[in-house]
Amino acid sequence: MQINDFEPRKVFEFFSEIAAIPHGSGNTARLAEYCIRFADERGLEAYRDDYGNVMIFKNASAGYETSEPVILQGHLDMVCEKRADCPKDMEREGVDILTDGEYLYADGTTLGGDDGIAAAYILALLDDASAEHPPIEALLTADEETGLRGANALDASRLKGRRLINLDSEEEGVLTVSCAGAARVSCKIPVDEIFADGMDAVKITISGLLGGHSGVDINKNRKNAAKVLGELLYELNCRTRIYITSISAGGRLNVITPLAEAVICVEDAKTARGVIAEFDNALRQERVLYEPNARVLCGEIGTVEKCADVAGTRKIIFSIMQSPFGVRAISEDIPELVQTSSNLGEAVYKNGMLALNFMLRSNSDSDKSAIVKELKSLTEYIDGEFEVGDNYPAWEYRKVSPLRDAMVRIYEDMHGRSPKVCAIHAGLECGILTEKLPGADMVSIGPNMYCVHTPDERLEIKSVMRCWEYLLRILKELK
Ligand SMILES: [Zn+2]
Repeated sequence: MQINDFEPRKVFEFFSEIAAIPHGSGNTARLAEYCIRFADERGLEAYRDDYGNVMIFKNASAGYETSEPVILQGHLDMVCEKRADCPKDMEREGVDILTDGEYLYADGTTLGGDDGIAAAYILALLDDASAEHPPIEALLTADEETGLRGANALDASRLKGRRLINLDSEEEGVLTVSCAGAARVSCKIPVDEIFADGMDAVKITISGLLGGHSGVDINKNRKNAAKVLGELLYELNCRTRIYITSISAGGRLNVITPLAEAVICVEDAKTARGVIAEFDNALRQERVLYEPNARVLCGEIGTVEKCADVAGTRKIIFSIMQSPFGVRAISEDIPELVQTSSNLGEAVYKNGMLALNFMLRSNSDSDKSAIVKELKSLTEYIDGEFEVGDNYPAWEYRKVSPLRDAMVRIYEDMHGRSPKVCAIHAGLECGILTEKLPGADMVSIGPNMYCVHTPDERLEIKSVMRCWEYLLRILKELK
């Protein structure tokens, strides 16, 4: 079986041409040029902005001249992952597509169905003289996978449409209608130090936690190693005096912190060991259901030069104990959706400075800004410095959405059952695009894909066909 044997033929043809061009994040210039050349050859108006985002415009088909335009959107870049034994240089070479007749996958690498299939659908539609549709404004963004950078840099003034179909979802029959916004918060808290004066130093390690994505796994009762460490340090300081020398926990803010280490000085090493052993035991008992491998280890490391003083140690413990972690609110509109969450993704203490870094997510911007203020007030109270970075808006759920209603109705009509309307507690470009396209009505869809961002990525061939027919039908009915 060859990829060009599959229907819809045009979609798979474009998909294989796209796959032959290397297009990892930060390396999409060639694919952007390919799209611009495609447009030029067909006399379609097209632009590439300074950041590398591509826009292509196609007039309405006959009878749709007065219809409002529809924006079709996906991203140009893919995640480049490969198996350890794969020799491919993904910077320079395209992927090799294989098929078993049911799925497409790549030889040893990610396939790039995320989001090459969006580009393939869009080019196939722009190339199709028989499709019936309103004016089409196609938008292919750069560098979605590395922090939504292309969308963030986009000058959207050429886009007149306020109905947008995003083609970056991975499950057929699911209409995504809301995503979380995010903010990174950094708190830097100064702490007074003293000389350790020959006290025993002990190294504590919290390990074996599952970690996971700070958005989609935040409701799975996983533990954050920095928070577990904070609780243990509090317990220790209640039972015997401790002085903190250093803390190192986490590092990637979009990951639930799986590992934390601390070096502390103790006045009474025996009591401290007893408290740590008790805590380890309790952790194994309590968390066995959700965190079966959680462990607290305690090692001797002789002496250290400096540590936080009594007040400083309390300040560090207080700051970690008060750091928000986990689910803060559940959506009222979408069942089971986490609306707001916080992850303490990094906690570092050394040389008299405590740094706490958070990833806040919310499908409601006002909820997010409430936690930002909580953290700011906490940091100010303990004389720290506070900073917010990468603050992306949420794509909030719209109670009134004619696009969603139409897409639900058409799906029901085609399949005899309702699609699942859902929201995700993670980022999509739609969050940024709501800000760039005020008032836009948006829905995200896509064909079935599995194991995206890994070399096991697979794209279901028949699902590509069904989603194509669905897309054609939506455009036809959006008069
Ligand atoms: Zn994607």
